[in-house]
Amino acid sequence: MIFAKSKAAFDEAKKYIPGGVNSPVRAFKSVGTHPLFIERAEGSRIYDIDGNEYIDFVGSWGPMFLGHGKACVLDAVRKAADNGLSFGAPCLKETELAKRICDIVPCVDVVRMVNSGTEATMSAIRLARGFTGRDLIVKFEGCYHGHSDSLLIKAGSGAATFSTVSSAGVPEDFARHTLVLPYNDLDALSDAFENYGDMIAGVIIEPVAGNMGVVPPKDGYLQKIRELTSEYGSVFIVDEVMTGFRLSLSGALGLFNIDADIVTFGKIIGGGMPVGAYGGRREIMEFVSPQGPVYQAGTLSGNPIAMAAGNAQIEYLQNHTEIYDEVNKKGEYLEADFLKSAAKYDIPIRVNRVGSMLSVFFTDTDVTDFKTASRCDTERFKTYFNLMLERGVYLAPSQFEALFISDAHTDEDLEKTARAFEETIKILKDC
Ligand SMILES: *Cc1c(COP(=O)(O)O)cnc(C)c1O
Repeated sequence: MIFAKSKAAFDEAKKYIPGGVNSPVRAFKSVGTHPLFIERAEGSRIYDIDGNEYIDFVGSWGPMFLGHGKACVLDAVRKAADNGLSFGAPCLKETELAKRICDIVPCVDVVRMVNSGTEATMSAIRLARGFTGRDLIVKFEGCYHGHSDSLLIKAGSGAATFSTVSSAGVPEDFARHTLVLPYNDLDALSDAFENYGDMIAGVIIEPVAGNMGVVPPKDGYLQKIRELTSEYGSVFIVDEVMTGFRLSLSGALGLFNIDADIVTFGKIIGGGMPVGAYGGRREIMEFVSPQGPVYQAGTLSGNPIAMAAGNAQIEYLQNHTEIYDEVNKKGEYLEADFLKSAAKYDIPIRVNRVGSMLSVFFTDTDVTDFKTASRCDTERFKTYFNLMLERGVYLAPSQFEALFISDAHTDEDLEKTARAFEETIKILKDC
């Protein structure tokens, strides 16, 4: 496979864009190569500027749940574009998408549109703080909620519960307002509430973690957070930016049958356009401006093109709920085949999967939190990634990301992927 044009394009991009990319993981740094520049995508396939074709399991990091270039989504976008790209005034499509979300997700009474997942979670925690009059936020190690200052916080070293910033440029003061707990640790959760419960404005979690690789919640874990937040009057924020409309029509909340106080969305609700949203109980959402004192605004929020794409994609899902069983079956197939190949060549892996989100971890211990995820052999992942790419399978370029299955993946795509996996594992055996 030849990547000459992508390589040259990256060199050129680096002259004008920091690191040559507009979002860091795209740089392929952790797999030791350079990014592919994509020319176009269709269905389950993407094509780079060197003319290579790949089966795409990134799906723009989640939004393309129906595959690329879904006709109903493209038609809606074209039609909307003819009427103008942005008005900065209300349009009917905003209410339509808001109504769809409220109809589908039981605990969402009202919802505010924003432009990204980052904006959604940033606004949600501001709202939790404004609503409760408290400052402290609880988050979990390995969960990613976008790049706002308050959420770029990681666990401190040692036994101390308090935390430290995970990016330069975030004042250490922010870390004082965020408690970072290990994912799936019930004792740590109970201790945190026992010690600080009356100070906790909100708890934010990925209901199925996807940003340390896929890590499902243990049985009863989300329910326990629900109980404790209710008991202490804290706001339970479930970040469904990745899982929303993917794990079921009503997301992880529907899958696990729990309610949140605030839910954040992004990715799938935009159909590939830049969108985020946060919604929840009316009593809480009434704190958002202009009704309430928590300020939040956006020049391009509720953009008509983005709303058109989102409505079309969500409407399609509402009318084709069988998709959820189908993508789950595709996931089962890949999981089983990957495990079979790994066993055949005696390469230790763990596969974590919930529905259409899956991660292959190169490790011989179960991955249940950030600590166990961090034990993976990232050098082996690097080799694996590049071998899969050469075989026409485009995966997320990091051990700590999910593989996304879409409605557009065909049986042939899955068989080809399974074959590429077996060949790759066989080569890994000899590395
Ligand atoms: C992608 C993601 C975000 C951030 O969304 P952006 O649109 O990239 O800002 C937040 N939370 C979760 C769980 C995500 O997967």
